[in-house]
Amino acid sequence: MNQPKARIAIIGGGPAGLAAALAALGAGVQVVVFERLPRVGTKLAATGGGRGNVAHVGDEQAFADAFGRRGRFAIPAWRALGGADGLRRKLARLGVETVVDGEGRVYPASMHAEDVRAAMEGAIRREGGEVQCAARVETLERTPQGDWLVDGTRFVAVVLAAGGQSAPELGSDGSGFALARQLGHRVVAPVPGLAPLLLEEPWLSTHSGTSVDNARLRLRAGHRTVEVRGAVLATHFGLSGPAALAISGAVAREWTRTAGAPDVRLELGLVPGPLDWEELRRSHGAQSLRQLLAAWMPKKLAVGLLEHCGCPGDQPVARLDRAQRDRLERALTAEPLHLRGIAPFAQSMVTCGGVDLKEVAPDTLASRLVPALFLAGEVLDLDAPSGGWNLLWAFASGVLAGRSAAQAIGGGQTS
Ligand SMILES: Cc1cc2nc3c(=O)[nH]c(=O)nc-3n(C[C@H](O)[C@H](O)[C@H](O)COP(=O)(O)OP(=O)(O)OC[C@H]3O[C@@H](n4cnc5c(N)ncnc54)[C@H](O)[C@@H]3O)c2cc1C
Repeated sequence: MNQPKARIAIIGGGPAGLAAALAALGAGVQVVVFERLPRVGTKLAATGGGRGNVAHVGDEQAFADAFGRRGRFAIPAWRALGGADGLRRKLARLGVETVVDGEGRVYPASMHAEDVRAAMEGAIRREGGEVQCAARVETLERTPQGDWLVDGTRFVAVVLAAGGQSAPELGSDGSGFALARQLGHRVVAPVPGLAPLLLEEPWLSTHSGTSVDNARLRLRAGHRTVEVRGAVLATHFGLSGPAALAISGAVAREWTRTAGAPDVRLELGLVPGPLDWEELRRSHGAQSLRQLLAAWMPKKLAVGLLEHCGCPGDQPVARLDRAQRDRLERALTAEPLHLRGIAPFAQSMVTCGGVDLKEVAPDTLASRLVPALFLAGEVLDLDAPSGGWNLLWAFASGVLAGRSAAQAIGGGQTS
């Protein structure tokens, strides 16, 4: 067996693993990246519909806020990378220029996520890093001397960056969680996030393809309320669009926790807030209900919603009776939606849940349980809405974990 050298095994060649490899190489430490698919970064190349929304601009607080209650954990990683600006500088050094859209989302200027993937892999190989593809790591063993054995080779440290469980055809099949469990880590039950909502609502599914920009989704489960505002898109299976995707993780968590009990309630508002019916009667009294609703949503959806409520579309607003007004108010601001399950991991973009953050040091991403083990990316229990936050976390945590692993085994300069 080879004598141990200052070598780090990186499990997973996604954005977190590739960033970790470059950070460790930059500190003068040899790395081997183990990737189960025939090539690294398959999911990275597919992100943002192939365009790669690789980051979101903003300060560290905005970054932490995107990850909710546990967001503070991610701040040291954000600092290690220097946020979206730091990532943009690093990518520019690899020959990938980036652009920022009006919403603060960062993309490669070429609009090809593949360019980011190829540039990172190329840089690792140029700097002498080893990339082993079609190499699925099944076990991580520690020798009595305190080294690691990965695929029969000794390493001094391991970075676990095997992702979550979403979109398994793109790589992450949950084996990162299995490896973490084998080593004694607790894994917060994984559920699909950034996935469509599966609903029993014919009035939505028959108008699939229609969307509303300023909608509101509210989840009530026991004492917990989660509210998300943004665009929703009616589909043949329920709802998609940024707001539906953003609330889907919370829905899946509650659905799983309560085994689909009726305690989980989901409401949809298609108008920005409560309606002043007296004012509407004065200003729009002569209009039909169909015309009134068409100000907030596509005509097709307005017709479907009115049929769903049992209100005639051609009825003038001024002639609404009390019961109709109450029914419409509810339909427009807090219509109950009936969940028929949660989408499978194959349809989700991120995994909510993962290795318990309490067992990992935020300043180094070192395991608090296992020596010389570092964790990065989606394998950890952190996830954010769409917009580039998840990839920014993957890159940032990869840099911090790779750098910390290199320093822990005596690596010098930082990249
Ligand atoms: C279709 C789609 C589009 C997305 N678009 C965006 C976007 O535009 N912006 C954004 O911010 N986020 C986006 N995301 C989310 C983002 O891609 C992930 O959060 C991010 O890739 C996580 O990075 P990671 O390196 O932790 O894990 P992954 O990218 O999942 O990489 C993990 C790697 O580890 C490998 N692996 C797993 N187990 C093993 C093992 N046992 N041995 C060896 N290798 C293993 C996998 O094959 C994989 O290559 C998208 C996700 C999907 C599915």
